[in-house]
Order: sequence, then C-alpha cells, then structure tokens
Amino acid sequence: MNRPLFSSCLLAILTLSHADLSWPQPTIAPADSAVAEAESLAHLPVKVPIPPAVTPAFTVAIYDDVHLSPRVLADAQDEATRVYQKAGVAIIWIRCKSSKMDAEPDLRCQDPPSAMRLNLRIVPHARKSSDGVFGVAFLSAEGTGAYSDVFYDSVEKLDRDWNVGLVRVLGHVMAHELGHLLLGSNAHSRQGIMCPSWHGDELHLASMGALLFSQEQGRFMRERLASYGKADPKAKPDPAIKILVYNIAQAPRAVLAEAEREAGRILSKAGVQVSWIECSAGHSDAEVKEICQNGWGPINIGLRILVLPTVFHNRFQGDPLGFAISPALASVYYDHRLRFVADDVGLGLPRILGCFIAHEVGHLMLGSNSHSHQGLMQAGWGETQIHQALAGDLLFTSNQAKLIQTEARTRMSLQTGS
Ligand SMILES: [Zn+2]
Ligand SMILES: [Zn+2]
Repeated sequence: MNRPLFSSCLLAILTLSHADLSWPQPTIAPADSAVAEAESLAHLPVKVPIPPAVTPAFTVAIYDDVHLSPRVLADAQDEATRVYQKAGVAIIWIRCKSSKMDAEPDLRCQDPPSAMRLNLRIVPHARKSSDGVFGVAFLSAEGTGAYSDVFYDSVEKLDRDWNVGLVRVLGHVMAHELGHLLLGSNAHSRQGIMCPSWHGDELHLASMGALLFSQEQGRFMRERLASYGKADPKAKPDPAIKILVYNIAQAPRAVLAEAEREAGRILSKAGVQVSWIECSAGHSDAEVKEICQNGWGPINIGLRILVLPTVFHNRFQGDPLGFAISPALASVYYDHRLRFVADDVGLGLPRILGCFIAHEVGHLMLGSNSHSHQGLMQAGWGETQIHQALAGDLLFTSNQAKLIQTEARTRMSLQTGS
C-alpha cells in the first residue's frame, strides 16, 4: 500500500429488518424444581480459620459434572485451599448444582459470578482435542473472569502418568485454573503452579506440597482481591452486556484478548461493563455453552472478527473498519497490516482493533446515525484519531455514554424481565 492506511477509512452501517436475519432468539431456562441435596456444606475446608480482615478471600462455586465422591472433592478443595493459603489468599467454597442434581444445593449458587465469586466446573473431558491441556479459564475484557473448567480425563491421565494421587493432581489443577481468573491474561509462568504444562518435575513438587504461586503472583492476587473488596458496596453497579465473540479471521488469541480488553476499557469508561464470551471454540462450561447457543439478539451482542475482503477495496475505495447490523451484530475486520500504522513491532494493533470493536458495538448501542464529529464515533479515522486511539484517548462522548448506559440497562431488563 502506498497511502496511509486510514486516510479514507469508511464505515458501512447496515440496518436490516428482523426478517432478514435469522439469529436464534434467547430462550429462558426452565425454573428448577426445589429438591435440595444435603451433603454440600459438610466438607467446607475449615482447617485453618483465617481472619477475613487480614487475608483477602474469594468465593468459588464448584460444579461437579463428573460426580466424584464427596470425600474426593472435599480433599481436592482442601488441596487447592492450601495452595492459596501459601499465597496469603483464602477460598470460600460453595457446592453448586451439577448435571445430576435437580436443584441448587446452596442458595449462594444463585449469586451472579463476579471477579470475587468464581465458577469452577469439573467436566469429564474437553469438548475438543486438547493435548496436555487440563482445563480452561474464560477471561473478561479487564483480564478478569468468572468461569473455569477442569478436564477430569486430563487429571486422571496426569495421575496415571506420574502417580502422585488423584486428589493431589485435581486440587492443583483446580488451583491453576482459578489462578488464571485471578491473575488475568498471560498468567503462565515458567515455574510453579502457573506453569502451562506439567510433567514429572511439577508433579513431584505437587506431591511435596511445593507446587505453588510465586511471591509476585501471590502479591498480585492479594492486591487485586483487596482492591475489589474496597469497592463501595452501596454504589449502583454499572449495567453489563455480553458480547459473543466469533473469531472467524482466526486472529491470534493474544491480540484478540488485548483488543477485547481495550474495547472493554473504553466501554467501561462509558459506564458499561462487558463480558466477552468466546463462541468460536467449543465449550464444556454449560453456562457459556448455553449463552453461545442462544446466540446474539435483542439482549446479547454478537461480534465477528472477519478477514478484510479485497472486494471492499474496490467497492468503498477505502479500508472499512467493519460494520454493524442493528440491533445485535457487530463485525470488525482483522488486518495484520494495521500494525504498520503505528509502530514496527505491532504493539498498536490490538489497541486499534479494540477501538474498532468499541466503535461497532457503539453503533449497536447508539442506534442509527450514531457517528459524531468527536471521539470514538467519528466516521473517518486519520492520523489524529489513530494517535488518540494508541494513547487510549479515543472514547465515547459523555452524551453517548449516557445513551449507551440506557441501552445496556434496557438489554438487561429484557433478560431478567421475561
Ligand atoms: Zn494454564
Ligand atoms: Zn461508524
């Protein structure tokens, strides 16, 4: 290309009627019948009482789809609890409804997941072949997340291969996946419990109770949990939206994760929190799966990451960022050439992609004619806008922020009200 990439950037907004689009309408799950299971709280790890004011704590709702014996599960929980105790962090466990149970055994299971109230599900196996992977954690825009899975067949295989005891392996794998949720993106380390793949060395350490978080990881988790704990409990929570991500262009995972983080940051500055649900890969977490199956629509937003089609060059004579189909489908073009705009090493690409995503989502939240002369919703992006984007200053205007919050609350009310 011999011209600046963004000089004549053009965005196309298509508004189609419902009849033209066939996205699945969200369905409401049937109410659970009220049968309680008794064994849930008996195995809470209470060995070492910790004063809550001193030790930051988080809650884990555990879902056992494998139907382990209560003893095995409780011992694995103890093992994970011990790993976190060494890092100065306490866990409060809640046993929640597995696929076999008819009703929630614990009322607290109905609390919405959050950065301090995590979900951990033990599933029989990964939905896709996942060599050497023993679980998965789903991270949100801000590098936090609330959902993680442990693949039980991988845990069994690790135990078979290295013979250190099933409970021990399971407890450590649980601690590892929860670690992803607490540490945020790029949580893997060369050593210790956040090592990405485990072999004899790691399992030998685990058998001695020495496969742990590093001091730095421990400090990070404590500070993060303490900062969540300080949030004003009376403050009205921001409205939240879910964005279902379809990475059709197969943009690198790390780039996309950072782009989502940037878009999430921009939207959170406008007063709306975003959960990113990766729908292109298979999921074993039943909740995530259900969200993906229900698809985008009046409540949730769909986001497609597409390959930039060459035909657009001719048609629009520019480089479109993407387009939005009201009310719920945003599409953004992933183009690795974007990295040449800002720098040689490609640091700018995720940030710019994040701005594109926020812009297209903005169209869905703001309705038609939502371009403005200032800020993120400008139609044409030149060098000024790209510089602002890289500086993190390309944001929604305060008027737009109010409209976006209202729209997010409307979408939330559709979810809870019907
Ligand atoms: Zn990992
Ligand atoms: Zn636009």
